[in-house]
Amino acid sequence: MRVFKAFWVIVSLFAFAFAVPAHAQSCTPRDFTTLSISTNTTPDWIAAILLAFPDLRYDATRSMLIDANGAQIFVEGPTGRATADILPRATLGDQFAIAYPLSRDLSSRLVPWYDPGRARHGAFFAFLYGSDRADVSTNLVAVAAGQGTGTVFRVNRRRGVACQLQAAMQALQNDADRLAPYFKNVGGSFNWRRIAGTERLSAHSYGIAIDINVDLGGYWRWSGATEGQVGLYNNKIPWSLVETMERFGFIWGGKWHHFDGMHFEYRPELILFSRLQGGVVSPLRED
Ligand SMILES: [Zn+2]
Repeated sequence: MRVFKAFWVIVSLFAFAFAVPAHAQSCTPRDFTTLSISTNTTPDWIAAILLAFPDLRYDATRSMLIDANGAQIFVEGPTGRATADILPRATLGDQFAIAYPLSRDLSSRLVPWYDPGRARHGAFFAFLYGSDRADVSTNLVAVAAGQGTGTVFRVNRRRGVACQLQAAMQALQNDADRLAPYFKNVGGSFNWRRIAGTERLSAHSYGIAIDINVDLGGYWRWSGATEGQVGLYNNKIPWSLVETMERFGFIWGGKWHHFDGMHFEYRPELILFSRLQGGVVSPLRED
């Protein structure tokens, strides 16, 4: 009888283990604003990629990034073209042409085409996160925004994206009442689509981006601005929200010339690159 009972205890433990949704599994998030950036790798942008994605290694003689399964991608360096020309066809190195500002700096974005992170080498994202809609879809995980809103973002579990977003959302719980409006009426998360007005796949296609409140974020195309001549805008997103997201690896579209204030995107390599370039993280403080 005792053996029989023990059997059922084991069965229920297994059932419980498999019933727990993937996003509730433990993971160890990293803080990219404090993570050690000591490295022997050069140049800085390759070092930043290796620090952000520790499962990769770089074969400098063949200019290849290689993952743990042996999949590889050819690494083409920066082309030095004008930023406006980089955007439609960025090489991997071109992604680092403009360092993402880590400070509370909205003045840099007044420079036309100052869009750090907006240049994406599509093959790199396919390599990291999945090459088509089905491939990405099988790795999507639901992350609750919290703040009592019931909002859920669907993001990629590959390379820690969901883990990092979950950590950011947990950290933002400390200020849940004030931040709740930003997580209502959200623009979404995973969506296999092209960027408006272009043929390029959006970061949302790879399950690495979220859009918070559409009305509070603001988007340059909806503002009536002309491409390359966007100018000032009225930012409504609290800096504490932005900085918490950055801490866990998400850059903010509000720092772009072509501003997209609702948009956050998992780009730890850009945050680490800025730090390697001497960028200083703002001390944690109130808005
Ligand atoms: Zn977006």
